[in-house]
Amino acid sequence: MPGLRADGTRPTATERGRARAILNRLKKRYPTIRTALDYRNPWELLVATVLSAQTTDENVNRVAPVLFEKYPGPAELAEANPEDVERIIFSTGFYRQKTKSIIALAAAVEEMYDGVVPDTIEELVKLPGVGRKTASVLLAEAWNKPAIAVDTHVKRVAGRLELTHNTDPDKIEQDLKALFPTEEWAGISMRFIQFGRDVCTARNPKCGSCELRLYCPWPDKQA
Ligand code: SF4
Repeated sequence: MPGLRADGTRPTATERGRARAILNRLKKRYPTIRTALDYRNPWELLVATVLSAQTTDENVNRVAPVLFEKYPGPAELAEANPEDVERIIFSTGFYRQKTKSIIALAAAVEEMYDGVVPDTIEELVKLPGVGRKTASVLLAEAWNKPAIAVDTHVKRVAGRLELTHNTDPDKIEQDLKALFPTEEWAGISMRFIQFGRDVCTARNPKCGSCELRLYCPWPDKQA
């Protein structure tokens, strides 16, 4: 039995079938997909995700190994001198705020979870600076647990395809969870994000060559 959407309605079999057809096409385009952030464990993915705000994943991948070489885990980072951390992550931008965030995160993981990143959304969102989006990325990526992270790309693509009529990320998450079977959740965000970067871009989407064109009711579709 599919779950309820944010407005309390349950998707019909036709709506779920359409959603499945859309996802199948995205799976064909991206048979396997994972984050472009490099990481060796959930802690590294958590920190890399924080560092990736307002910068490219490549930039984070250049900086993260230096950071983790010097501070391998939360215990070491929690005790770090902020100025040393700022120097290492400088090129990712907003380095002062990011330094504060990751040191606070390290201290909280140490204090609240004995140095082990938790694997439930309820525990993850209790960490400072970790919202549902970051928690969902972590659950889906690091543990392949059913979770859908809603970022700007997911929001745009799902909206244009009318998989949701909401703009609030938490409601979009609920709408998508109602449409797709649980076993597909972990693979949805990354495919929508990549599709949003490659084809269904914010400006000048490539509608003419889009494989989802037939399913797309967006009135501003390009020729
Ligand atoms: S047809 Fe255009 S707007 Fe619709 S999903 Fe494809 S790229 Fe996006």
